[in-house]
Amino acid sequence: METKLQKLKKRLVEINDLESAAALLSWDQSTYMPSGGAAARARQMATLGRLAHEKFTDPAIGKLLDDLRPYEESLPYDSDEASLVRVTRRNYEKAVKVPPSFMAQLTSHSAKTYQVWTEARPANDFAKVQPNLEKTLDLSRQLADFFPGYEHIADPLIDFHDYGMKASTISAIFAELRQQLVPLVQAITAQPTVDNSCLHQNFPEGQQWAFGLEVIKRFGYDFERGREDKTPHPFTTKFSLGDVRITTRVKENDLGEALFGSLHEAGHAMYEQGIRKDFEGTPLAQGTSSGIHESQSRLWENLVGRSRGFWRFFYPQLQAVFPNQLGSVSLETFYRAINKVERSLIRTEADEVTYNLHVMLRFDFELALLEGRLAVRDLPEAWRERFEADLGIVPPDDRDGVLQDVHWYAGIIGGAFQGYTLGNILNAQFFETALSVHPEIPAEIEEGEFGTLHSWLKENIYQHGSKYTATELVERVTGGPMSIEPYIHYLRGKYGELYKL
Ligand code: ZN
Repeated sequence: METKLQKLKKRLVEINDLESAAALLSWDQSTYMPSGGAAARARQMATLGRLAHEKFTDPAIGKLLDDLRPYEESLPYDSDEASLVRVTRRNYEKAVKVPPSFMAQLTSHSAKTYQVWTEARPANDFAKVQPNLEKTLDLSRQLADFFPGYEHIADPLIDFHDYGMKASTISAIFAELRQQLVPLVQAITAQPTVDNSCLHQNFPEGQQWAFGLEVIKRFGYDFERGREDKTPHPFTTKFSLGDVRITTRVKENDLGEALFGSLHEAGHAMYEQGIRKDFEGTPLAQGTSSGIHESQSRLWENLVGRSRGFWRFFYPQLQAVFPNQLGSVSLETFYRAINKVERSLIRTEADEVTYNLHVMLRFDFELALLEGRLAVRDLPEAWRERFEADLGIVPPDDRDGVLQDVHWYAGIIGGAFQGYTLGNILNAQFFETALSVHPEIPAEIEEGEFGTLHSWLKENIYQHGSKYTATELVERVTGGPMSIEPYIHYLRGKYGELYKL
């Protein structure tokens, strides 16, 4: 049996090599590729993607998985070998259910829709992309139908990002959270507006860049196994466990943009850098779900990076970098500025408190669209109504309304948004657990020391990669199921104090 497992592993590593090569081409496309390379690059990535898919859906893989079943069943559930077979089988069974011709159709439709969206958004012209989006919805439903037996049509699509989560579970958690958040947002926005103009002076790019690098180095992001580059949209990508890269964007008139972007991506990257080396090249060597991944990025960005203790250490250093801009701005003013809560239009720029309302609106619309309760043509109006109800403002146009996020216009409708809010809920739950085991963590953060926290995350979350599902991991780490309590407790504590509620 050992030899069959070796055989399987060898094939998986080869497939991973193809995928990693495609990821490198994609990274290069976003960072340094001259625009003249675009057409050939798209083709090259498609070729590698197709080869990887063909290799993975080869019936020989299915045969190996079948042959390995008795061996897997003879081992404890959480042994590395059983986990590798289990996770590979799960991915394999999913991959073989979708015909390659359908995938090709979806990919080509997505590419076209993305192109139309890049024109429709600046022109504030939803009608231009509406027929494409209708087709996307149709294809999204078809995709779900390759996985019969679901409870809700969104479930198979959610499964691609957050394995094991169901629309019904997420809806229930979101409803509970929304009940708490809407009044909290109302209470906060009834208070005087916070002045965050200190963040909107001129901050030269080079100094911003260097400061961000300094912080993430201290966090424990390993530059021997990573690097940071500039792109219009920040992301994290991995070519191996020894090469996990991040990107960020810099705005000279907005100090938060590059800094918090870097902290966020470093959180994603540290998760991947922390996976056990012997998982390299296998399906176990990646973060286990989008919700867990977001919990790790947001933990470093928000729970650490927007905390008062963190800035007690770093603010004097930041002031030394920008003496003219921040020399006379107090720590308290700065702390309030980076935690300003406001009703705003754009999800990606939203604060910790309102952010989830942006996500829930999208999640609910995805369910309504997939169920057929909402038509694509009615989406802009539905967006305005819901936005006003939840956030108290009406988007003045579709550009900053229904057209703002790329997700639906570059992929399918369903599954891509819930991870952000699951991440917010889970980061608080994980952090609370870490503090109960290591009450010294906040004091260390005030000293610019992150070793205890980083080690705890490595030990409890990072190292396991995809060995455990999100649900299993939450149980193992916190001793209970996912719960919104720690997150609500965190928000009430922090923002209650900030806004004197
Ligand atoms: Zn993220």
